[in-house]
Amino acid sequence: MLGKGNKLYSIFRMKCPRCHESDLFVNKNPFKIDGFFDMPEKCPTCKQKFEMEPGFYYGAMYVSYAVCIAYLVSVWVALLVLYPSFTLEFYLIAGIGSMVILTPYIFKISRAIWINFFVSYQKPEEREKF
Ligand SMILES: [Zn+2]
Repeated sequence: MLGKGNKLYSIFRMKCPRCHESDLFVNKNPFKIDGFFDMPEKCPTCKQKFEMEPGFYYGAMYVSYAVCIAYLVSVWVALLVLYPSFTLEFYLIAGIGSMVILTPYIFKISRAIWINFFVSYQKPEEREKF
């Protein structure tokens, strides 16, 4: 289901959106600070530019906002189902506290989602040769 050719494969594995072979980030671990923001200039496999224009990833901030809201709504629904008598303070601590911990992951996944809006998967035989 989540094999190569599926955008979710590229997003959750943080792979190049065009070839699904190489990593989008130099350091894939979102909780390792060393080289956190570093991305290769181009994909080493298919030569897809990862920063297609200056400031390309500013748009990922909007994706990050949507991901955060979806996460907070999910926490709200999960608490309603699992613990219906929760208080607002508990929700704020559980939701925002866990979201702060997940922020580095949300940052990277938002960039992966953003570049996947603009670049589609191509099979190796469909790609231009460089
Ligand atoms: Zn590639």
